[in-house]
Amino acid sequence: MSKDTSQRFLFENLDVRGEIVSLEQSYQEILSRHHYPTPVAMLLGEALAASALLCSTLKFDGTLVLQARSDGPISLLMVECNSNRQIRGIARYEANHIKATMSVDELMPQAILVLTIDPTEGQRYQGIVSFEGGSLATSLTNYFASSEQLATYFWLCADDKQARGFLLQALPAEKELVPEQREITWQHLTTLAHSLTAQEMLKLNNQSILQRLYSQEDIRLFEEQAIHFHCSCSRKHSANALLSLGEEDAKELLKEQQGQITIDCQFCNNRYVFDAADVTQLFKDGSSAPPSATKH
Ligand SMILES: [Zn+2]
Repeated sequence: MSKDTSQRFLFENLDVRGEIVSLEQSYQEILSRHHYPTPVAMLLGEALAASALLCSTLKFDGTLVLQARSDGPISLLMVECNSNRQIRGIARYEANHIKATMSVDELMPQAILVLTIDPTEGQRYQGIVSFEGGSLATSLTNYFASSEQLATYFWLCADDKQARGFLLQALPAEKELVPEQREITWQHLTTLAHSLTAQEMLKLNNQSILQRLYSQEDIRLFEEQAIHFHCSCSRKHSANALLSLGEEDAKELLKEQQGQITIDCQFCNNRYVFDAADVTQLFKDGSSAPPSATKH
């Protein structure tokens, strides 16, 4: 059984659901492509777990992107999760400015987080999340609290081997109808979740986590869903990028790069190489190119 899973649970007598995400192999695959210092890897792990949790709250076909930028030692953090639970992610950082003891606020001071939901069909949604409370989990929890969305609580942690995420989400009133009672329930459940330590989170399996937190509650645990690392880059994508440059510029680039255009995927390090014959062929077959690629 894969350890890379997303598992939903539901409180039978309360209007609250939850999700627990575990990433191990996919996280390791993403780390193996870059040599991230531990604090960068851990923050990337938390972001990956967050993207999988966020994806689990959406009913859609498409991709969710979480992107954080700052002027600090980590300049960019970008993670994606799509509706097939395929994840990828990348971090850009200044290696000499990273210290093992640095807090999130020191690694990414005044970071701006952008949450983008890009459905296969329909409108793109973008939300700006302010990075606050010294953690990604707190920032996301506050974002949901201050927006028009359902109250949602996030708990994230990672070490150098695995990343884990825990989410609680208030559902529309159905089982508990008195607002004050709903509020008490939400406070009670999130306070208990808050008592979970990173050590417990990284050691315990999902069932034990729920047992540890909510032994008094009747909980239904759904089937685990597998999560995979997958990069959506391809030779075709790279070819389209060249086509959109236009023939003249592509040939110029070919000259600049000594007869071979190389396009490296920043996520997975895959390299796509186009030589002069490839470029000529590409523009000959250019009828399949998008109209914007046509040079006038
Ligand atoms: Zn790639």
